[in-house]
Amino acid sequence: MIIVLKAEATETDAKDILAKIESVKLKPLFMPGTERIVLGALGDERVLQSLNIGAHPMVENVKPILSSYKQVSREIQSHDTLVQFGKTTIGGGSFLVIAGPCAVESEEQILQSTRLVKQHGASAVKAGAFKPRTSPYSFQGLEEKGLKLLKSAAEQYQLPCVSEIIDTNHVELMSQYVDAFQIGSRNMQNFNLLKAVGQTQVPILLKRGMSATIEELLLAAEYIYSEGNTNIIICERGIRTFEKAYNNTLDLNAVAFIKNRSHLPVIVDPSHGVGIKPLITPMSKAAIACGADGLMIEAHHNPQSALTDGQRALDETEFEQFMDEIKPFIHAAGKTLSEQAST
Ligand code: PEP
Ligand code: MN
Repeated sequence: MIIVLKAEATETDAKDILAKIESVKLKPLFMPGTERIVLGALGDERVLQSLNIGAHPMVENVKPILSSYKQVSREIQSHDTLVQFGKTTIGGGSFLVIAGPCAVESEEQILQSTRLVKQHGASAVKAGAFKPRTSPYSFQGLEEKGLKLLKSAAEQYQLPCVSEIIDTNHVELMSQYVDAFQIGSRNMQNFNLLKAVGQTQVPILLKRGMSATIEELLLAAEYIYSEGNTNIIICERGIRTFEKAYNNTLDLNAVAFIKNRSHLPVIVDPSHGVGIKPLITPMSKAAIACGADGLMIEAHHNPQSALTDGQRALDETEFEQFMDEIKPFIHAAGKTLSEQAST
């Protein structure tokens, strides 16, 4: 329920109403605006009706929140959320390119790959240290050693870094090394993990589950948000459909839809979403055109030697060309490439 107070309502009036909301065990929200105070009440709205808040002399109107996801919806916050990622920002016109290899493989590999993405304009580096692989026989990541290598490469090139978290027990360990936690497709509905990262203030890159609906994705974001962590970036990374011509079907409808229904920034990962190198640049342009706030791209200094996802990683020449080609699209969308931390 959204409760809009009259222009003359004071903070004391707001506190009085919030106490009433709390008294029936609903979650109260206080959202002071420039012109008037807006309050929220989350939970079973039938309980709230018994309070007859609409009759309070300082209440202008009361309206239900229609979507199942509440705090991440535009119904409750009409302006875009900006997420601070290291020293860089995403959202509100600041366009973030996160790039890097699928996994940290060695000191030389992560240094070279971080150098190349920095040199050609990425504002953040990504690489996995804990890799959730389909087969137990595939490379599983360098774990803490990988995190150390990623952090030191990111520091050397002054970029914020993101890496995937797969276990609630890793929250403390990973927060020593990374600037953002990635929740991968396979863990989008790992509710304990969502709650655990929700109890931190570390920015979260929440990737869409490969078979998740948009409502399920936004409810996953709601799990994180409702624990108190509002620094969430949504990532569309393709879904499974009947189409076999490419890795996944990049659902760009989702970008426009989520931008319309939620205030959270949305980025697109065409490297997993399409998975075919020549399609990464055109689909990135399309993502920018339909409102994405950023891109996540796999890039590797020597893709042939990559232990994971080498077939879709851009090499240095390809990444340089990719950046050159997307810049006019970012500009045409009225956005600017988010600044690198050192500039
Ligand atoms: C990745 O970003 O390397 C990754 C494993 O992505 P996803 O969870 O989307 O498959
Ligand atoms: Mn990958």
